[in-house]
Amino acid sequence: MLRSWRALLALAVLIVVVVLWAIGKGDVVMAVVLGALVLITGRTMFRSYSVTKGPTGPAVDVEERGRLLVYACETCGEQLVLLRRGTDAPPRHCSEKMVLRHVDVPDRELN
Ligand SMILES: [Zn+2]
Repeated sequence: MLRSWRALLALAVLIVVVVLWAIGKGDVVMAVVLGALVLITGRTMFRSYSVTKGPTGPAVDVEERGRLLVYACETCGEQLVLLRRGTDAPPRHCSEKMVLRHVDVPDRELN
């Protein structure tokens, strides 16, 4: 049923295209085709931006004795100390994913 409905729609579109072309409105057809192409390309390129990875569970403490978990930006050098982890996805800085590093710190310097 759905297949025949789609075939009918495709046939209708084809007839409209042929009629428009026949009466000298080929530029309208080209405009619609180009518009559809731009729309499809844009949706494909920006699909990843609308898909957000949410937290996989409750946030957990990531405390390690004598060590700090540090997210570092390899572009500008900014560093963030990670205290609680809510998701495995790394934060972004300078449009790049930050890199997780384990930094050794003597216990007395943490307090
Ligand atoms: Zn940065």
